[in-house]
Amino acid sequence: MEIATNRLDRGFYRYKEEFEEKALEVLRSGWYVLGKEVSSFEKEFSSYIGEKYCVGLASGLDALWITFRLLGIGHGDEVIVQGNTYIASVMGITINGATPVFVEPDEYFGIDVSKIEEKITDRTKAILVVHLYGMASRMDQIVKICRKYNLKLVEDCAQSHGAQFADRMTGTFGDVGCFSFYPSKNLGAFGDGGAVIVNNLELAEKFRVFRNYGSEKRYYNKVVGANSRLDELQAGLLRVRLRHINEINQERIQLAKYYTQNIKNRKIILPKPLNNSTCVWHQYVVQCEERNQLMEYLKRRGIGTLIHYPIPPHLSEAYQYLGYKPGALPITEHLADTILSLPMYSGMTIDEQDYVIDALNSF
Ligand SMILES: *Cc1c(COP(=O)(O)O)cnc(C)c1O
Repeated sequence: MEIATNRLDRGFYRYKEEFEEKALEVLRSGWYVLGKEVSSFEKEFSSYIGEKYCVGLASGLDALWITFRLLGIGHGDEVIVQGNTYIASVMGITINGATPVFVEPDEYFGIDVSKIEEKITDRTKAILVVHLYGMASRMDQIVKICRKYNLKLVEDCAQSHGAQFADRMTGTFGDVGCFSFYPSKNLGAFGDGGAVIVNNLELAEKFRVFRNYGSEKRYYNKVVGANSRLDELQAGLLRVRLRHINEINQERIQLAKYYTQNIKNRKIILPKPLNNSTCVWHQYVVQCEERNQLMEYLKRRGIGTLIHYPIPPHLSEAYQYLGYKPGALPITEHLADTILSLPMYSGMTIDEQDYVIDALNSF
């Protein structure tokens, strides 16, 4: 059997008629940028998340860097972020000239809240929380720290559409929730897309102006902005997917449960979600000291896996200028050497999962 790490086609075929109908509707409408699909999606997505405003943008990275720009965080400022994240989280900070300050993760892959305070200096302006793999971070404690030190709180929700902490959606705890709709995300488009979720009207307006060359009224530019618009086609297709998001997340929860119940191998550590939270399993990430052998073993059996992520941002070539050496973040680096993401996608069959499970159990 051949099992790919992801099968985006299955996610399309599952709602094929609805996607095709919407695509044709948008193509035939004659209106392709900033129209009724985008404004409807913004209303529907903010109502799903349970927050006042949503502003559609061109990508998750744009959501992050524009957020820090509009919060006024740049040169000379520090932003606290976990070491084990996708590099886009860090680029959102550094594009503006601010400095990321890395904190090691806890056993749930989220920022270790007990290690945040020791990293706070008088230059610290914000905490960027990443709800990695669809697992909510410990928001109760993070919110407390932000209040105590008067820090901005930004959430990277690129992997956590619909994940909750204490019955509250990720993306609603801080100043801004940043989302990506890259095709492989739980709420994925058919190209790039992103959005921010905010509860403050003034800030929401700033995003709306910034994404469109800094103009509110055509050809009257208030600030130097960017071209970061979610387009009508993606917004329309996202509206279709959003109608089914609970089903899509529920399916992943089932798939994760099945893996957890059936993978039985002492060499393989299974992920466990935080108490008091709903994980939406963007990835199902196991740990294994013999990770590279395991990956190879699965590959020989036709099973594709990925590492999210093999090089932690502080050691990537792009961030050499920050001056970190191997060993700077031992927990983060150990994770990078031992984690492995199993195949997990909308439309994965029990037969496919059994095949992966058998291979893992016989390793
Ligand atoms: C995907 C992702 C991003 C970036 O989103 P894009 O839409 O690809 O720019 C940022 N942070 C995390 C954690 C991600 O997984």
